[in-house]
Amino acid sequence: MEVKYAATMDIYSFQGKEWNCNHPFYEHLREGRLTTTACNDCGMKSYPPRVICPECLSENLEWVDLPTQGKVLVVSEKVEGVPLGFESPLILALIDLGEEFKLVVRITGVKMGELKKGDEVKLHVYPVNPMPVESKNGAIFMQERVFYAFTKV
Ligand SMILES: [Zn+2]
Repeated sequence: MEVKYAATMDIYSFQGKEWNCNHPFYEHLREGRLTTTACNDCGMKSYPPRVICPECLSENLEWVDLPTQGKVLVVSEKVEGVPLGFESPLILALIDLGEEFKLVVRITGVKMGELKKGDEVKLHVYPVNPMPVESKNGAIFMQERVFYAFTKV
C-alpha cells in the first residue's frame, strides 16, 4: 500500500473472512443478530465467540443466537480517561441477557444519569470506520465494518 494504514491505532478488528476466523459474528451483526459459539461436544456456550471450546478444546463448534434485548444490572459512567476511540462519557453496563449470559456492553443514546438498574436495553449495530484492504491484484478497496452497543428500549 502506498499509504500505510495505522492498524495499531484501530480499536476494531479485521472483520473479513481472510483474517478473522470469527467473521460470521460480524456478518450476523449486519443482520441484526448477536451470536456466539456453542460446543457440539460438551454444550458450553462462550462469549466472545471462539474457534476452540475453552472447556473441552473441541473445534466442533456451531453459531447460536443470543437474545438481542436484556436488562441492566449495573451501570458504569466514565468521564475521564476514556479509552482511545470512545467519546466521553463512556457508559457501560452489565446486562442480563437471560439464559446464562451476563455481558458488559457499551450503552449508546443515553445521557449521564439516565440509565438505571432494571432498564431494558436492546442491541444497536452501527458502522465503524471502514478498513483499507489490498486485494490480490494490488487494488485497494475499503472494507465496510460494523460494531455493536446496546441502547435503551
Ligand atoms: Zn466443549
